[in-house]
Amino acid sequence: MMGDPLNAREDAAEALGMVARAAGTYLDALPHLPVRDATHAHLVDDLDGPLPEAGDGTIAAVADLLRIGTRAATHSSGPRFFHLVVGGATPAAQAADWVTSLLDQAGGLWVASPLAAHAETVVLRWLKELFGLPASYGGVLTPSATFANLTGLTCARYWWARRHGVDVTADGLVGLPRLPVFSSGYVHPSSRKALQLLGLGRDSVRTLTRDDAGRLDVDALDRELASSGPAVLIGNAGEVNGGDFDPLDEMADLAERHGAWLHVDGAFGLFAAVSPRTAGLVRGVERADSVAADGHKWLNVPYESGMAFVRDRSLLGRAFGGWNSPYLPEQDEVRVNYNSLGPESSRRARAFPIWATLRAYGRDGHRAMVERHQDLALRLGRRVEESPDLELLAPITVFVVCFRYRPPGVPEEALDDLNRRLGEELLEDGRVYAGTTVYRGRVALRPAIVNWRTTDEDVDLLASVVREIGARLLTAEA
Ligand SMILES: *Cc1c(COP(=O)(O)O)cnc(C)c1O
Repeated sequence: MMGDPLNAREDAAEALGMVARAAGTYLDALPHLPVRDATHAHLVDDLDGPLPEAGDGTIAAVADLLRIGTRAATHSSGPRFFHLVVGGATPAAQAADWVTSLLDQAGGLWVASPLAAHAETVVLRWLKELFGLPASYGGVLTPSATFANLTGLTCARYWWARRHGVDVTADGLVGLPRLPVFSSGYVHPSSRKALQLLGLGRDSVRTLTRDDAGRLDVDALDRELASSGPAVLIGNAGEVNGGDFDPLDEMADLAERHGAWLHVDGAFGLFAAVSPRTAGLVRGVERADSVAADGHKWLNVPYESGMAFVRDRSLLGRAFGGWNSPYLPEQDEVRVNYNSLGPESSRRARAFPIWATLRAYGRDGHRAMVERHQDLALRLGRRVEESPDLELLAPITVFVVCFRYRPPGVPEEALDDLNRRLGEELLEDGRVYAGTTVYRGRVALRPAIVNWRTTDEDVDLLASVVREIGARLLTAEA
């Protein structure tokens, strides 16, 4: 049959070569492309059509995807995508991601790929060292920080149910009281999502705050823990709107004093540990019971890449293992089945891009990137403070710059609407991307600088485009 891939074996290398040639052109252009080019937006329609019966063949299909993709993609791996928290892909990580596809390992079971399992063991050890986490911690790679939060909180749930004499893995939640969960106002929706999936309830989180930014009320937490019974604390390192960090050291003290479980969501902020300039922001994380982080944010590894670490390494196996399937092999310290230590079963060898970027650039290279992003954020902060029509709203910690457009003479009550429209226009314009949020009750822009390609010129352009669009909106109104 024409469409049978068995008849197209010899096309594989040619198709990959085509991708590699397109990559050269695309990557050369990337620093100069607008983040999104509206003139190509219609190309997504070319993806559509009826399910092919005969098929176009390897070369035609891949060529078409390249034609559409390289034009219609959001060029978020370029230097000027400051929306959300979106990292780029270092050259080594990007190439290793291709290797991951080339080798197509079933990365969950040692017997299926000792290579993938060993790479995962090695990168987890490197990552613990990079972050200053104890070598004794268990770990597993996940598709994202949402899955890493799920992994840590699943272990927390197991621990807590045990305190009540229940094996939640085997018997579920029936008969257990509600799990007390405490956090600051900085708690990320993905932690709530994890609690929701675990049957603990999204709204089980009690946020104890002492101001309208959401900072943790440590004394209130102390009082609550005195009477709550076994509880889970979620520490946030850091917060996506203003860039602040919870006081992890104090939370670790309280967790120790009251016998609580401390889970730290360090999706991006755990990387602050990589530089002595910012390590103080995450002091205490090395005493957490579980820690979540992302590879596809500040490590600049392609999607999907996350990681979870757990102080009591046996809990991962107890919370996620126990399949009792006769066809699954036994494991030991060396022959690890990572699919029994996390929420996934079959999974790609996602250790390879992490391995490659750490092998290529080392601790020094990744520290340099972390420090450069902080420098760029501080530079943008200075641009904001120098500009009479911009206002900085939060102190800069690592890479988030929370500010708003505030031209003289515009009344306070008109500013939210003005900034919201500015945010929409900015995305429409497409030269730079940044999103709006509500910070302390005010609509604000919150660009996040997390891409290895970003330079001074890119952040200067952001400031000038914001001012240009703001001025245009004001003139249009007058
Ligand atoms: C991005 C983020 C998450 C979720 O990470 P995903 O990789 O998108 O699942 C969780 N917590 C914080 C603080 C984040 O910034």
